[in-house]
Amino acid sequence: MACEAEHSPLGMFECQLCALTAPYSYVGQRPPYTQSIVLLEESYVMKDPFTSDKDRFLILGSRCSLCGRLVCVGPECSLFYCRRFCLPCAQENAAAFPPEVQQDLEKKKSPRKRPSSQHGSRT
Ligand SMILES: [Zn+2]
Ligand SMILES: [Zn+2]
Repeated sequence: MACEAEHSPLGMFECQLCALTAPYSYVGQRPPYTQSIVLLEESYVMKDPFTSDKDRFLILGSRCSLCGRLVCVGPECSLFYCRRFCLPCAQENAAAFPPEVQQDLEKKKSPRKRPSSQHGSRT
């Protein structure tokens, strides 16, 4: 029995941190779109809609290996270091990561919005 379900999404991927949503068509480590790639982690994958190249696909995200939360692969949401970690888990366990990863986490922790209402802080 043929199982050509490539064009029907399995469901909607939703990042639980940034609320990114996208339909995914495969979950696992061996996307059916290519024979040669085995992913390092079980990922939510969709076929790349921006190219007609059959082998191209996009990794949307995967589950945090600590809390099981579904997170996208965006640098604001998760970190891959041997396994997938959502950013809150990564920051909680920052001490377990090598210094360069810790520095990266520190950078992400700083708030992006600038205090524009405070102008009198020059010394
Ligand atoms: Zn996200
Ligand atoms: Zn987590």
